[in-house]
Amino acid sequence: MAFFDLLDFDNHEQVIFCSDKSSGLKAIIAIHSTKLGAAVGGCRLWDYANDEAALVDVLRLSKSMTYKNAMAGLKMGGGKSVIIGDPKTLKSTALFEAFGHALNNLNGRYLSAEDVNITTDDIAIANTITPYVTGTVGKSGNPAPFTALGTFLGIKACVKHKFKRDDLTNLTVSVQGLGSVGYALCQHLHQAGAKLIVCDINPLTLDKAIAEFNATVVDLDDIYKQDADIYAPCALGATINDETLKQLTVKIVAGCANNQLAESRHDQAMVEQGILYAPDYVINAGGIINVSFEENYDEKKSTLKVKEIYHTLLAVFIKADQQNRPTGMISDAIAREIIENGGK
Ligand code: NAD
Repeated sequence: MAFFDLLDFDNHEQVIFCSDKSSGLKAIIAIHSTKLGAAVGGCRLWDYANDEAALVDVLRLSKSMTYKNAMAGLKMGGGKSVIIGDPKTLKSTALFEAFGHALNNLNGRYLSAEDVNITTDDIAIANTITPYVTGTVGKSGNPAPFTALGTFLGIKACVKHKFKRDDLTNLTVSVQGLGSVGYALCQHLHQAGAKLIVCDINPLTLDKAIAEFNATVVDLDDIYKQDADIYAPCALGATINDETLKQLTVKIVAGCANNQLAESRHDQAMVEQGILYAPDYVINAGGIINVSFEENYDEKKSTLKVKEIYHTLLAVFIKADQQNRPTGMISDAIAREIIENGGK
């Protein structure tokens, strides 16, 4: 494989392949940039179709952490890790201890945290071996509720800009994925008076959503064609693509999932369809903002900073209108400028 020529390689500083035969650990740690500080980003456990898919995923996630941390005004670089395997069978104490040893080998150039299929319990095991984890219980804890709060406020910013409204009453939001973040986001949306259409591969969480939010449940493939105002992708990435754009009739795409666009050109495609897109790494920065308060944790300060996401997004939308360019392109340009200026 022409590794350095991969589109997603994007001058990563370092990519590390880690394995531990006895625990079954197969992981990739990607450090995109340490220009603003040690690279920080979560760890994802996923049963990838093949190793190349895992590599592409970690590279895309890691680059987006560089931009996310810069846009959120954090003195942290961008990195991410993936553990390859079936979340239902692979997890063990030995696995996360082995992951802890892999982190120790990097001497703090990269700090990990929770992401898809990785819980605070998993991070706690790694933490018995390494100090290079964040989002630990007793300090900043699970980042997901803060990601959900930031995403909710980001949706409010979208509604303000697109519909000139401050409230969400009777707006319909189609939410894909009711995991740690998606479910907490639904709680905020329900409280704010929004109607919910939801899907997930896990039937238990769907039953809860019907009982708690009076949500309408639809099949996985039907989520895109729902008659909704807002589509909130809260599962995996690349759900904005040629196929789904043909089906979407929403006016806003705003959710917590990382790497929502299958290709960068889908940013412009949404503009042409009259969709306002909240760039994923801007709207979903609440969790990493909370993690940035890991030492001397202060929930009030963290929450105040998460609330800045509302204003950051509005500034991106206004600039996009002024320059007649898509929102993702605008936020990439702002993030790159912040990184080039050393975080200012
Ligand atoms: P999670 O594993 O808790 O939840 C993911 C949910 O999506 C699960 O309920 C799963 O069953 C569901 N799902 C998987 N495939 C699906 C499909 N095809 N259709 C519908 N549902 C599907 O993960 P999470 O922590 O809630 O993260 C969700 C997304 O948000 C991920 O893209 C993650 O990278 C991103 N994110 C999470 C955080 C965080 O703080 N946890 C921060 C920033 C971004």
